[in-house]
Amino acid sequence: RSRANGIFSSANPSFFARGFLSVPSDSNLITATLFPGDGIGPEIAESVKQVFKVADVPIEWEEQFVGTEVDPRTQSFLTLENLESVRRNRVGLKGPMATPVGKGHRSLNLTLRKELGLYANVRPCYSLPGYKTKYDDVDLITIRENTEGEYSGLEHQVVRGVVESIKIITRQASLRVAEYAFHYAKTHGRQRVSAIHKANIMQKTDGLFLKCCQEVAEKYPEITYEEVVIDNCCMMLVKNPALFDVLVMPNLYGDIISDLCAGLIGGLGLTPSCNIGEDGIALAEAVHGSAPDIAGKNLANPTALLLSAVTMLRHLDLHEKADRIQDAVLKTIAEGKYRTGDLGGNSTTTDFTKAICDHI
Ligand code: NAD
Repeated sequence: RSRANGIFSSANPSFFARGFLSVPSDSNLITATLFPGDGIGPEIAESVKQVFKVADVPIEWEEQFVGTEVDPRTQSFLTLENLESVRRNRVGLKGPMATPVGKGHRSLNLTLRKELGLYANVRPCYSLPGYKTKYDDVDLITIRENTEGEYSGLEHQVVRGVVESIKIITRQASLRVAEYAFHYAKTHGRQRVSAIHKANIMQKTDGLFLKCCQEVAEKYPEITYEEVVIDNCCMMLVKNPALFDVLVMPNLYGDIISDLCAGLIGGLGLTPSCNIGEDGIALAEAVHGSAPDIAGKNLANPTALLLSAVTMLRHLDLHEKADRIQDAVLKTIAEGKYRTGDLGGNSTTTDFTKAICDHI
């Protein structure tokens, strides 16, 4: 493919061009919010802090810890201060946050996305040079609607033994994410946008989503537009990921498809993302969760969070720092001497991080 190296290359510096903003700063240091998060979060956040320090990145972290009980002002463990920190700094990095299954409080991730208006979650997925998988030509961007769909949090019991979950799709949110996807494609030398759906069954909801994508597609005649049913999309991705370029889809599908894409290039330890908000807020986070099975064991791969932090640097126009860190991470993985267990190595998080620092 002609755009080899895609989003990982400084040849394509405007990864998050549309969201670029000047952040308030009294000194040469930019303040960014950091949520270390749960599970492996603090371990991989520590890696990012170390690597940033060695690379002399002009960022001062404002660390935020979520509360231990529900804050009535947010109805979540997130406090108003947590939210204010991101609103004030307008850029941040977040570690994974655990959500108890089936009960408990409003999801921390949902609260963040809703309260901060983080309407698009951009999830790049790219074959890493030097790390062999079945494919060597994966170069995809999944753009996930981030505020509604099945994630609207509207669930209740109808009668005993019957529960109901409401999927909300609005014209406003669908147009907004479709516009982001097409604009992204246009400004990043991408040729095709695929809308992923199940409108044959979800006729009203996914039907509206598709209608909005079609409307936006008309404004971008230079971008090829197609619609792919989600089950077929999964099969096509596994068979030949090079068939796709930019994929845009409702919330839940984006959650699932991006994990599938991570599997194509070596797993969840590798895939970054960035949440984009209406007013230019960018909150970067790895695609993966808190990985409770390996938490506290110094085994986690910090690559996904590091590459997420790189997207944050690009958003801030700090491309030279972004390039240095990205190159050091990719070089370390390609050399193969230090790799974490998920990539078939036996390095600890600490040793892998040290090797990255040595490459900076
Ligand atoms: P997970 O992504 O945490 O883990 C899935 C598998 O991938 C596990 O085997 C894990 O060890 C492995 N893995 C994930 N990240 C890794 C890394 N950096 N290095 C090495 N291996 C890694 O998914 P899960 O177990 O379904 O979820 C655990 C918790 O995380 C749940 O509470 C879930 O709600 C939450 N979650 C949070 C986010 C987020 O904060 N954005 C995203 C997904 C899941």
